[in-house]
Amino acid sequence: MGIREELEGRFGDSFSDSLVERLSHTADMGFVPQLVWTGMKINIIPDYVVYPKNVEDLIDLVKIANKYNVPITPYGRGTNRYGNAIPADGGILVDFSKVDKIQVDDVNKIAITEAGATWKFVDIAAQARGLQLRTFPSSYDSTVGGGVAGDALGIGSYQYGYICDNVAFVEMVNPKGEVVRLEGKDLAIVCGAEGTTGLIYRVGLRLRPFSPTESLVLSYDNFEQAYRGIGEFYRESIPAWHIQVRGPAISTYIAENFKASLAPEKWNMVVLYPSNVSSIVEPKLYRVAQNTGAKTFEG
Ligand SMILES: Cc1cc2nc3c(=O)[nH]c(=O)nc-3n(C[C@H](O)[C@H](O)[C@H](O)COP(=O)(O)OP(=O)(O)OC[C@H]3O[C@@H](n4cnc5c(N)ncnc54)[C@H](O)[C@@H]3O)c2cc1C
Repeated sequence: MGIREELEGRFGDSFSDSLVERLSHTADMGFVPQLVWTGMKINIIPDYVVYPKNVEDLIDLVKIANKYNVPITPYGRGTNRYGNAIPADGGILVDFSKVDKIQVDDVNKIAITEAGATWKFVDIAAQARGLQLRTFPSSYDSTVGGGVAGDALGIGSYQYGYICDNVAFVEMVNPKGEVVRLEGKDLAIVCGAEGTTGLIYRVGLRLRPFSPTESLVLSYDNFEQAYRGIGEFYRESIPAWHIQVRGPAISTYIAENFKASLAPEKWNMVVLYPSNVSSIVEPKLYRVAQNTGAKTFEG
């Protein structure tokens, strides 16, 4: 029996080597320059695609891959921008879309989520229990496993830092096919490793109490003014949850397509904060606006 028969026998309908399945996993959102394609001989087409459903599937998958000395590439939602989720030498592509169960432990304020669950569904589950995510990539529909593997920064990182600053534990299947639980300093083995140190199976994500999000936008005519506004913002030590500065082109796009309250063709500093701290945040923001000549828009 060869690897194909062994994978098909073990994974049945969750295994495929059809050309359609294989080709549909040869891309993520990464733009690979022509120079790389022509200079490097890499095989981005996986030989097999497997959709595991549980940790036993992941263990057996690693053991079969080791037996035949075949590479494994984990794949979340393929939204990264650097070609990280596509093979470099064929092999087995592991699509995590069926490993997506979510539990919320509201006593310890932790979501215990399987790697293929998306941030959006984890947030919905948390909000149903009076909690919410602390931080997540702006690609809300990407997976928790992909976020931990890339140790992303995103919405809420101003207050809560990197994704992995908010991870209580990770359970992963290591390259020997063993389940390991990583906590504390050992999280460095998996965070930002882009799936090269194991297959992330389950993640404990720390949550925060739910409070509606409010926003205030400080709008500037030019970059110099916006730059001064950012400096003032930091000097005021504002307990915001998230801040981002949008340039003129993207501000126009957002204003026209999403009817957002910000000024098109200007530099917009968008500040998000939970409503339970608005009485601290808002006076400070209005003072920054006044001192730096910004127009303000309430969200
Ligand atoms: C519109 C948009 C907005 C974005 N916003 C942000 C942002 O705010 N911040 C940011 O940092 N990035 C952002 N990104 C990039 C991307 O969304 C993130 O990197 C995201 O975390 C990738 O998740 P994914 O599920 O798509 O993973 P994939 O792209 O499928 O994989 C990413 C990496 O993780 C590995 N991986 C995936 N699942 C597992 C697993 N279970 N075990 C081990 N390794 C695994 C893959 O092999 C690959 O190396 C954005 C992208 C888009 C398109």
